Amino acid sequence: MAEKVAIFPGSFDPFTKGHQDIVKRGLLIFDKVIIAIGVNSSKNRFFDREFMKEKIEEAFDSSDNVEVMFFNGLTAKFAKEIGAGFILRGLRNTTDFEYENSIANINKHLAEGLETVFLITSPDLAAISSTVIREVHKNGGDVNEFLPYQL
Ligand code: ADP
Repeated sequence: MAEKVAIFPGSFDPFTKGHQDIVKRGLLIFDKVIIAIGVNSSKNRFFDREFMKEKIEEAFDSSDNVEVMFFNGLTAKFAKEIGAGFILRGLRNTTDFEYENSIANINKHLAEGLETVFLITSPDLAAISSTVIREVHKNGGDVNEFLPYQL
């Protein structure tokens, strides 16, 4: 049977325990999860992407079925290029749902057969958002408890 590979695309600015939870649970379904850090030139990052890649690799130290890559442009195109048949995404709330609903349909249109698989966020991690973590960190607050590595 062909290996089931999923990409988990996102900004991961920063990668949080919520993201880690989705990857770990994704590994119960897929043989391999590729964490794909989107490189969007029009959007300035707060955490350097090379730094974030290293930190994510540190968090998944012992897993050889997790890989971290950068990608540019369309998620669907990238998934096809690397031979991933699935996109993995987390759903926290109805706002995520509205957005993801349209994106998933567009991606399926762009790359035939590409399925998006959603995992409902674990309740204790649902409140963690990269945006909030960035703001707290910028203002000197300690955010390490929300991250699967130390800053
Ligand atoms: P994007 O900019 O593409 O939304 P993010 O890095 O914010 O990228 O999120 C990537 C994915 O992780 C999305 O599917 C998002 O819904 C999910 N996600 C974000 N925070 C959490 C969390 N706390 N628990 C589970 N999933 C999450």
